[in-house]
Formats: sequence, C-alpha cells, structure tokens
Amino acid sequence: MAVVSVALPLPIRRDFSYRVPERIPAPEAGTRVRVPFGERVLTGVVVGFEEAETPGLREILEVLDEEPVCPPDLLVAAERVARRFFTSRGEVLKSALPSRLPAAGAAAYRITEKGALARASGTELEILDRLRSGEAVKMADLAMEGKREAIRNLEEKAWIRVVAAGRERPPRSEWAYAAARMEEQEGRRLLGRSRRGQEVLSYLESLGRPATAAEIRAATRVGSAVLRDLFRRGLLLRFEQGRRREPPVLPSGRPNVVLTDGQEAALAQVSSAVRERRFLPALLQGVTGSGKTEIYLRAIAAALEAGRGAVWLVPEIALTPVFARALIRQFGDRAAVLHSALSERERGQAWERVRAGRARAVIGPRSAAFAPVLDPGVFVVDEEHDSSYKQRESPRYDAREVASIRAKTAGAALLFGSATPSMEAWHAAREGRLQLLRLPTRVDDRPLPSVQIVDLKREPFRADEKGVPLFSRPLVERLREVFARGEQAILLQPRRGFAPFLLCRDCGHEFRCSRCSVSRTVHDRGRSLVCHYCGEKGPRPSRCPDCGGGVLEAIGAGTERVADRFAEIFPGVPHAVLDRDTARRRGAAAVVEDVLSGRVACLIGTQMVAKGHDFPGVTAVGVLSADTLLNFPDFRAAEKTFQLVAQVAGRSGRGQAPGTVHVQTFHPQHPAIRHAAAHDVDGFAAEELGFRRAFFYPPFCELAAVLVSSQERERAQTAAEQIGEAARRGGAPGLRLSGPAPAPLERLLGRWRFQILLRASDRRSLLAALETCVPEHPPAGTQVAVDVDPQDLM
Ligand code: ADP
Ligand code: ZN
Repeated sequence: MAVVSVALPLPIRRDFSYRVPERIPAPEAGTRVRVPFGERVLTGVVVGFEEAETPGLREILEVLDEEPVCPPDLLVAAERVARRFFTSRGEVLKSALPSRLPAAGAAAYRITEKGALARASGTELEILDRLRSGEAVKMADLAMEGKREAIRNLEEKAWIRVVAAGRERPPRSEWAYAAARMEEQEGRRLLGRSRRGQEVLSYLESLGRPATAAEIRAATRVGSAVLRDLFRRGLLLRFEQGRRREPPVLPSGRPNVVLTDGQEAALAQVSSAVRERRFLPALLQGVTGSGKTEIYLRAIAAALEAGRGAVWLVPEIALTPVFARALIRQFGDRAAVLHSALSERERGQAWERVRAGRARAVIGPRSAAFAPVLDPGVFVVDEEHDSSYKQRESPRYDAREVASIRAKTAGAALLFGSATPSMEAWHAAREGRLQLLRLPTRVDDRPLPSVQIVDLKREPFRADEKGVPLFSRPLVERLREVFARGEQAILLQPRRGFAPFLLCRDCGHEFRCSRCSVSRTVHDRGRSLVCHYCGEKGPRPSRCPDCGGGVLEAIGAGTERVADRFAEIFPGVPHAVLDRDTARRRGAAAVVEDVLSGRVACLIGTQMVAKGHDFPGVTAVGVLSADTLLNFPDFRAAEKTFQLVAQVAGRSGRGQAPGTVHVQTFHPQHPAIRHAAAHDVDGFAAEELGFRRAFFYPPFCELAAVLVSSQERERAQTAAEQIGEAARRGGAPGLRLSGPAPAPLERLLGRWRFQILLRASDRRSLLAALETCVPEHPPAGTQVAVDVDPQDLM
C-alpha cells in the first residue's frame, strides 16, 4: 500500500501523509489530489512518497490529474521557498497554481469482472453498458446525468476501476533529490555510516539540483539497491518526469538590430551559461535606454534554441500586456502570458500550454516565477529593484528569490536587470555573488537627459494650488517649448485620486477611514472619499461631522487634480492619466498605445509611468513632487525615491531628440535627489550602504517582521509581547529585536496591529529565532503573520 505526502494549502509548515487506496493507481509527485482534512475536503499536491506506513492514516479521495501539473523542479523550489520565507509549501503551491486548472489528463474507467456480472439499474447500468466492450472510457466521454455520483458508487462496489487513460505518454525518467531534512543533523544521523549513501548525497549536494537516477548511478557507481534504500528511509525523494521532446526550430532575434559591444559582451556570457547548463546569477546594470530589453529577448531566444525554456518577470501586473507584446511579437505561440488579470480559466489554459511544453517562453508578474516551464534555461527579472516582486499577503514570497532558487536548480542563467538596482543586488554584485554586466551608455551614444532640480521653497505660492505648488515656472516654460515642437512629455505625481486629504478649515478635522488609521483620499474631482487601504468609499460630506463647519478643503494633489490643472495651463494639449484607477477602467495597454501613436502629448501618472516604457517621442519629464516617498517611515525611503526619480528621468530623450527632466522638491540637497539628478547609481549606493551598515539594515542583516493583529487592541498587544518575550528568551546569537510596537499603520480593516522586527546577521539564525517565537496556533482572537525580507514595514 502506497503512502504519499501531500502539501495542503494551510498555514501549517509541514506536509501531510495519506494512504492511496488499492483502486487508485499511485499518483505521481506533482499531481493534485483531494483529501479529507478534519471535516473538510481539501485539494493538495502530492510532493513525495513514504514507504513506511503509519497506522491510522486517512485515504486519498480522488486524484485530479493524470499527469503532474507541477514539474519536479517546481516542487523542489516550492519547498525551498517555503522554508526561506517561513511559510507552508502548500500555500506556496496554491498561490503558484491557477485555481481553475483543467485536469492534466483525465481519469478513465474500465469495467471489472465483478461489474460485468452485476445486476445494476439506472445511471449505473447505463455506465456499465458503455463499458461492456472492455474499452477504457473517460469521465468526460460519459454523457449521462448524475454520472459523478454513479461512478463513485460503482467504484466503491469495485464494479469499475480507474485506469490511466489511453493517451500516449512521453518517455519518462526517474529523478531524485535530497529531502530537506538531509541538510540537517537529523538526516546525517539517520544516514549513519552508510558510505555509499553519503556519496550519493554529497553528489546531489554538489550538483545543487535534482538528478536522474541514471545520472546518480553513473556518477557515484552505486547500485539501484542503495537508491531504493535511501528512498525507503525518506532521505531521498523521487519523482518521474517526461523527457524533453524535440527542440523547436526558431528564427533568431530581430535581424535589423546590430548589438552594441556592451550588449554583445553581456549576451555572450548569458548565452554560454544557458548552453552549458551553468547557473549564472548576474546583474545587468545598464543605464536607462541602454538596450537591456534587447538582451532579454536574445537570451530567451538562446534558451529556446538550446531546447530549453525561459521566464521573463515584469514588475507590474497592469503593465504585463504592454511588456508582453515584444515577447509575443518575437516568439508567437511559443510565448505565453501568465498573469492574474487573466480570468482563472485563461490562466489555467496558459499554464497547461506551458506545462505540456507547447509554450516555452513565459512572461508575467511575480506569480509567473512559478511557471511550469520545462527545463528553464534563463530567468529574466526585469526592473529587478521593483518592490512589487515581493508578495505582501501570505505566502509572502519574493519572486526574485524564487527565480534564483529555480535557476540554481535548473542550471540556468538568472538575469537581474535594472538601471537602478536594489541595494541588495548592487551589494551582491560588488561582493561577487552576482556577476556584474554593465551597459554604461545609451544605445547610439545618445546622451542621458539633463536634469534640473527645482527648489519648491523658492516658487511663489499660488492660492489655487492648495498647499503645494504643482507646476513650477521652469517646468511650464519647458513644457510649452516641447508641445510647440510636437514632442511629448511625462509628468509624475506619485498619488492617485484628486487630493490626499480633506480638511475642515474650522476645526482641522481630517476624515479618516473608520477601519484604518489613514486619511481617506479625495476622488472623482472632489465628490467622493476613498480609503486606499480597504477601498471603503463614500460621498464627500458637505459639512464637518465634528463642528458642522461648511468649508472643507481638498489639500494637496493626486493625478486627477494634476490633470485638471494641466488642462487649465495647456488648453487643447491632449493628455492621458495612467494610474491604477485608469488602468482598471481602460487598461494600461490602451493608454500606452495612445502615447506611442502620438495621440496623447502628455502622460500624467503615478509610478506606473516610470516603469520600463520606451516612448521615443518623450523629451521632457517633470517630477511634480519628489518628496512623497521620502517621508515614509521606512528604511528604504531614500532608495525608493532615488529609484523612482532616476527611472522616470530615464523615460526622457530616448529617441533622436535629447531630453530634459525637472525634479520639483522641498529637499534639493537630499542625497537621493542629488544622485538621481546626476544619474549616479554608484554614488548613491555607496552613501546609502554606509547608512545601512551603520544601522544594521539589509543587505547587512537578515530581516523579518512579525505582525500580530486583532479586533481588540489589548489582545494584539499581549500576543505580540508574548512573541517578543519568547524571541528574547530563545536568545539566538546575534539576534536584534525591535518592538513590539504599534505598526506604522496601526489599524487596518478594523484590526489593531503590532509589529516586532527581528534582525540577524545570517539567515539560519533568523529562521531559528522565528522557529522559537512564532506559535503554530496564534492565541485566540489574533492573527500572526511573518514577513521575511519585508519590502515595506507598514
Ligand atoms: P532599456 O531597457 O535598457 O531601458 P531598451 O531595451 O528599451 O532600453 O532600448 C532602448 C531603445 O533602443 C529601444 O527603442 C530599442 O529598440 C533600441 N535598441 C536597443 N538595442 C539597440 C541596438 N543595438 N541598436 C539600435 N537600437 C537599439
Ligand atoms: Zn480603510
């Protein structure tokens, strides 16, 4: 009797064992199964086999796939990701897999001897009659009503049985990888003095990826008996995988583009790693407009030419269709887009195309890091610095780390690309953990745009621009010139809506959200108030609820108000807004298309306008307020400001005509602004890393946040204190604790939130500390969330 381990979508950090009943052929690792769990039935993924049977195990109810929906390397990656981010593999897999995934192959049924002799009636009889020829018939091919229940009954009476469907299967090989516990003392102990076992495991360790059984036997000369013994003791896990089919024939790259020397050199390194199946973690640090995208496309072509696959991660869900165009243009139906704005059905179909090997180049936002690409040869992480690669809800994984883990497992190139790398990547490249590939100049030696910092303290105050001057004199002058020449402009305002606050002139009342500790934002040209955290929306009141005052003033400006003001200053100049609101209403691709075609002369928007666009007609960029992010209570505030300003600046002057940038700020001397204006990444990084080192922040420490929340403030605080106390008592060496303290966003959706920050000098100690202080079951009425490598501490 087979026993399988199943990863279940529960916040419990281990797998669960189930027996496979005789009537079901043992499912392969990577197939989905339905299993009983308490009173519920859950869908999980088979992740391995156990040969020792524990009494009292419950049985699998149903196997949903005929072939694994998860390729083996993905199972391995999910396990490592789960450990790395202190979460459960089941939750990682659940978030990886589309929720409406068609069964990978469907079960078929055959009549048994007992069934042939049985006296049945109704639907059961109809089904038996269909099967009497002895042929296997798929569930999908049975048309009668109530067939599911009838089939279940027939199965129970053993009148029919499930068989693998008649579908031809690709040839398979057996693969093995070291179980996670091998990396720990327990595994070493279990292994005892078996020298041959040791050899197998050190071979796998040195390889750093799963190997086929044949590979292991060839490299270590052990017999299959040794392997079987390791499987039996759970020290090795195994799975089967279809062997690769023939590589597709390809046209190579875009022929009319001749690579620059810099591009050529960078591409050569990446391509040779792809061909040699060598893990090459690299940082492509190239100024804006240096032609990074061309390298991504060619690296992907190289992978496909070598018969391998590719994954291209992009930073923004709403912009995925924009980025996807280049990939689809070049690779046609060998490309697939996997993103969450697709319907679940479409996402399921795309997944299946990729899994079955019909599509080999995948593009998408962070969740695409889990794409079931066969034998991936390159992972591109475009705009590597973007914090949207970190998932903010459970499971809190970082797609950059997922890509890295998978690239290592597969022996693939890992290409982080950015003009403004994250401090982590910049530092890793200087320490040699990432191979540094540089593109120091723009294509055709076009100049980087000239940047002028506009000190808002010196701008005259205008009564109609409530609080903050929006359009400084130098910016207006420059924009007039640009529009007169028929060129285009981008204006960045990092807040959406009409204005960030509504304020009562008489008493200063602020109109906060009733459930979150933030002010509500004014939307719809001043007609409504919206909480950006929970979405609560209502009409703007006409009087202050506190003092009854009737003068309510919208303070500051979001993109809506900027657009209004723009129309006043530049009547008749066609403009469009790109932010989350317009992306939802119109689709970002439509707005981008309007800019590319020239229908729109000025694009106004939030950080979405700064991300990777290539608009050759844009010659002026205005950053209306560079200070919004600077004021965030976050150790990355300066880094994010630097990146945003430098990125949006990089949209200017990418075509023939040279570009300009105006950066409006109240802090003209701030290093983030000064270095962004000088396009000086290395200068900024040197200064910023000095600060990070001195105050023990990433990349010089490993950081985790434990967030405790509850409807009642007391409970959240008490639970947080207990966790803090447990961590302190655990006394992991070199551990630094901050808090518990109220989170910067103290209330969210009606819950009170307390935060504890744990910092350690290495990952192992950090995870060990979490192990000692985070309870498996949070105290009654509270929730405990762990965020390893948090990207914001709100
Ligand atoms: P990045 O991603 O580094 O900001 P892009 O890849 O968008 O830069 O390239 C900027 C522009 O230069 C694009 O319009 C691209 O088509 C063009 N380009 C890229 N490489 C070359 C090349 N070798 N020769 C001519 N034009 C190029
Ligand atoms: Zn709210």
